[in-house]
Amino acid sequence: MVTTPPAAGAREELDVRDLRVADDVARLLGAEYVAKLRRGPAPARARCVICQVAEDLATTTMTVLVAPSVDNARVMFAHPRCAPSGLLPPGPGPLAGQLRTRTAIYGLALTVDGGPPVWVVETDIAVHRDTAGGEVVDELLATLLGLGFALVPVLDGPVLAGLPVLTGWTARLTGGGHDLLVADGGGEAIYDGGIGDVPAGWLGALVTGRRLALLATSMTGLAAADPVAGLVQAARDGRLAGGLVPAGRARSHRA
Ligand SMILES: [Zn+2]
Repeated sequence: MVTTPPAAGAREELDVRDLRVADDVARLLGAEYVAKLRRGPAPARARCVICQVAEDLATTTMTVLVAPSVDNARVMFAHPRCAPSGLLPPGPGPLAGQLRTRTAIYGLALTVDGGPPVWVVETDIAVHRDTAGGEVVDELLATLLGLGFALVPVLDGPVLAGLPVLTGWTARLTGGGHDLLVADGGGEAIYDGGIGDVPAGWLGALVTGRRLALLATSMTGLAAADPVAGLVQAARDGRLAGGLVPAGRARSHRA
């Protein structure tokens, strides 16, 4: 059984989001994919590639930008005031550093019976489309697998407990237990923000068990009324990756 935080009031989902898509972008992505983006609910949130402010796509007008490369196309979002929809020049450019940001913009605490406490992150690196074959390539997933994550085929306690340990990664409760800082093996923050409402027993299990199962994906709609449905589908589709991260409270003083 998967337990989510107490509902904070189910959010009204809009059938059609206000995404501005230029003709050349629409041609590259294909009408079906553009329709999927507009329909939602995933990705739930996106960070503007220019000003880096994260927005709720259900309520905020955003433009769609695409950076084509040799084998795929990276889909990004921006505020209309920051950048119009369009194709970005391939290769390194002034935006390259910002586009490579890997920081997750939405997180969710879950408990799954028989497994470690779960922290799910959804990133704004939404999708990648193979421009040669037309196949959707999930570059985020490829990156995670390269970092030692494993595919999570099902949200099941023993499966989560058996995930590989991510060497050097850390998860620390900060801000008096209200915030979470997840850092990768190089010390770079992957998630740094509030944990919101968590299921009963989640904090205790994290502190006692000293680990959490970090699940990562894109395009699942974690902010949707039923986030678990999106996760279950992502697992089934082979788009959910996870690993175990040593976890605990941040120390206020060095031991
Ligand atoms: Zn912006």
